Amino acid sequence: MFDALKEKLSSLFSKLGSKGKLSPEDIDTAMRELRRSLLEADVDFRVAKDFIARIRERASSAEVLRSITPNERISAIVYEELAALMGKAAPLIISPKPPTVILMAGLQGSGKTTSTVKLARHLKGSHNPLVVACDLRRPAAVEQLKVLADGAKVSFFGPEKGNTDVLAVVRGAAKYAEGHLNDVIILDTAGRLHIDDELMGELKSIAEVLPPHEKLLVVDAMTGQEAVNSAKAFHELLGLTGLILTKLDGDARGGSALSIRAVTGIPVKFAGVGENTDALEVFNPERMSGRIMGMGDIQGLVEKVKAAGINETEIKSPGKIAKTFDLDMLLKQFEALEKMGPLEKVMGMIPGMDKIKDFRAEDADAGALKRSKAIIQSMTREERHNPRIIKGSRRRRIAEGSGTSVQNVNQLLAQYEQMKKMFKSFTGSGGGRRLKSLFGFGK
Ligand code: GDP
Repeated sequence: MFDALKEKLSSLFSKLGSKGKLSPEDIDTAMRELRRSLLEADVDFRVAKDFIARIRERASSAEVLRSITPNERISAIVYEELAALMGKAAPLIISPKPPTVILMAGLQGSGKTTSTVKLARHLKGSHNPLVVACDLRRPAAVEQLKVLADGAKVSFFGPEKGNTDVLAVVRGAAKYAEGHLNDVIILDTAGRLHIDDELMGELKSIAEVLPPHEKLLVVDAMTGQEAVNSAKAFHELLGLTGLILTKLDGDARGGSALSIRAVTGIPVKFAGVGENTDALEVFNPERMSGRIMGMGDIQGLVEKVKAAGINETEIKSPGKIAKTFDLDMLLKQFEALEKMGPLEKVMGMIPGMDKIKDFRAEDADAGALKRSKAIIQSMTREERHNPRIIKGSRRRRIAEGSGTSVQNVNQLLAQYEQMKKMFKSFTGSGGGRRLKSLFGFGK
């Protein structure tokens, strides 16, 4: 997701380079390119215009600081403004008085049914959610919800055979939830190809029978500005409390994610990032902005580590890593990565990983990871701690011991050096300040 935009921004900033001072013309050119990149990512043009105006003003008035290049300064401003554009993180409302009722709405194919189960699965750790099939027009929809819910081990409530009264289902679900101590009820309502009066009437009467604490609209990020328009329309008729943006894993250009809140005023609460029912992320504007700017995603990584049940300290912030980074730590990182599942996703979250050319996510297949682990495991404690001593004969011994080649060993050591350099660049003189300026500019 956001790949094209990310690439454009990265090339824009590398063009600005490390100039000590930016002329008004430099800023003009940069703003023009930034505007073009946003429009190509399908950001609403009014939103893009205001956004550029804000950046231009801040970039022009930013005072010159010795330790920060103008380029870094502007990228920090863009990072901040991108996050501001997506608004403050808006957590899911959980009623202090159970049950919390969540109404899921959306056009057909948006990912509503899948997101219903994803949300239930997400809540399962701390709640006892019940998903309810309220789409009685398509028998297949009830079945689909049941199958997904069973797969995710989430409680399900559906209509009796032949029942076409959706309000009876909703009442039945409320009773069922009471009897089964379900403290969250998630209603998967009917989808439509277009918004129509009948659908809105149905949603409103469901909301009267069981007043929802959250009315979440599921929108498909791949549909770009259409997603924004349908959110606007649903909001006017229904008064939404949040959005779930789905298919952000695909080649959605990301424009809807960037502008939907600015246009509609509704916060994005979750992002769907895959077809499986575990592919749901809490939407965090700062983290998303960091990803777009290619700063990796420490926070996201830590969350993922937690979810995988691995000790959080195994993955640390770049600053902490730099101080103690040796091959033992690299081995630990590899082991942690292995436990975390789909590698491309995880690798994309590590800050700077996209900048290490020999360590591209697509190369990080499980085989390469195993090989790298074997190489480190064939080293002595001293070698792991002080890789500089690993010269010719040691390299040969390690290659033999790990069943790899000297070339593989060389590669791993080169990767290690690159990573170390990268982590150091965040902590060296002025670097801490640089990192701070990137993440917490102005504070
Ligand atoms: P509904 O008609 O709105 O209930 O949509 P479904 O839940 O049936 O989803 C439609 C299709 O989109 C299905 O093939 C889902 O697997 C897929 N889908 C849903 N969410 C995501 C997502 O976040 N990423 C991807 N790649 N596919 C998704």
